[in-house]
Amino acid sequence: MTTTTDAIIVGGGSSGTAIQCALARAGIGRTVLLERGVLAGGPTGRSPAILRQQYGHAELVRMAQFGIDYFHSWQEHSSGNCDYRRIPLLAVAGEENLAAFDTTLEIMRECGARVEPIAPADLGRWIPGARHDDVLRAAIEPDAGYCDPHATALSFAAQARTHGAQLMQGVEVLDLLRSDGRVCGVRTATGDILAPIVILAAGPWTPMLAARAGVTLPIRTVRHSVAQLLRPAATPAMEVMLADYINGIYFRPEGADQCLAGSLRGADTADVADPDRFDEGISEDVFVELAQRMVHRVPDWTELGDGGGWSSLFDVTPDAYPLIGPVEQLPGLYVAAGLSGHGFKLCPAIAHMITAHITGQASRFDLALFSPERFAAGKPIVGRASYHYRTPLLA
Ligand SMILES: Cc1cc2nc3c(=O)[nH]c(=O)nc-3n(C[C@H](O)[C@H](O)[C@H](O)COP(=O)(O)OP(=O)(O)OC[C@H]3O[C@@H](n4cnc5c(N)ncnc54)[C@H](O)[C@@H]3O)c2cc1C
Repeated sequence: MTTTTDAIIVGGGSSGTAIQCALARAGIGRTVLLERGVLAGGPTGRSPAILRQQYGHAELVRMAQFGIDYFHSWQEHSSGNCDYRRIPLLAVAGEENLAAFDTTLEIMRECGARVEPIAPADLGRWIPGARHDDVLRAAIEPDAGYCDPHATALSFAAQARTHGAQLMQGVEVLDLLRSDGRVCGVRTATGDILAPIVILAAGPWTPMLAARAGVTLPIRTVRHSVAQLLRPAATPAMEVMLADYINGIYFRPEGADQCLAGSLRGADTADVADPDRFDEGISEDVFVELAQRMVHRVPDWTELGDGGGWSSLFDVTPDAYPLIGPVEQLPGLYVAAGLSGHGFKLCPAIAHMITAHITGQASRFDLALFSPERFAAGKPIVGRASYHYRTPLLA
């Protein structure tokens, strides 16, 4: 059976659902979102979904700000719930990443983001018992926070449906259809769906789909682990999240007595050949390493409990910035992928950019900068700051 619609979105993670919702609110309600599993069943649902603005490029800082404002004011413009929590982010740096840290804060200030330096000796006011002898710089980002990624995706999709949009879960897109040099729809096991616009928001699976239509997207897939640490009973509750650029670890509280922790070191992520076959658990080595980095920062936490953890996937581009926008080589085809581990907080901005292009409205952000074809054109994005660690700690 063949059906026709105005636009097809492939992928029901934070990007696809945000895009369908933004299109619906812009008056393009006759869309179909195809998700081969369930909403937020991929990397979106495994994400701690931390909202922060610390980036080495002003455009990404502004997009993150837009996302934070969007989630912060969710109840004013959206039904449902994204379970947004506002909680400050404490960032610390030592000698190794000092220049990157200072430049990042400078970019944030240029973009109007609030970021307040604190004396390393005052770290304990934010994390009782925190060690500061290795800290040269520390700053608080008061507008940071996090969401529930499942609730967010479900809520975006529900809002889109109130405008007439259609959601099909358990339906895999097998191929992209082309006619007269344009994309004209998709093929599924239950039939073809025709549309003049197809938006690929399929995370790590996006390059495989694009390749079927002859479009090469430079996205590789890497595995990223999250440890669930049980805070020792005698220690106070966490009122802050941490980005520790010395140990290369981030964490945020989860519930009353847990925190989620992951590595900030690129060297700790490993290439995955097949995103459908990878180990979704966390290895004991990685768990122990992340716990040790936590204890290095907060020595009182030696009695940390093992709450397990998981691993999922980042879809990473060569410059670690997303691919967003139309594919000139195949008119009608759009991409929102290669989000390189930053994508949750960016989904409102990504949805705005794609919707503005489709509806012919002005975009708040520089869509051309994120062109999916920028590498072929020799125009990778160059940030002003990036963090490097001399020695990978994990095996
Ligand atoms: C462990 C982890 C930690 C992270 N931490 C953060 C963080 O703290 N803050 C932040 O902002 N970001 C973070 N990220 C990144 C962020 O979560 C992701 O970039 C974002 O959620 C990706 O959403 P997406 O919709 O683009 O893709 P995905 O979540 O990958 O969704 C793609 C969907 O497409 C579907 N699909 C694939 N192929 C097909 C097909 N052929 N037909 C139909 N459907 C298909 C998949 O089933 C999947 O559901 C993290 C990611 C991970 C994995």
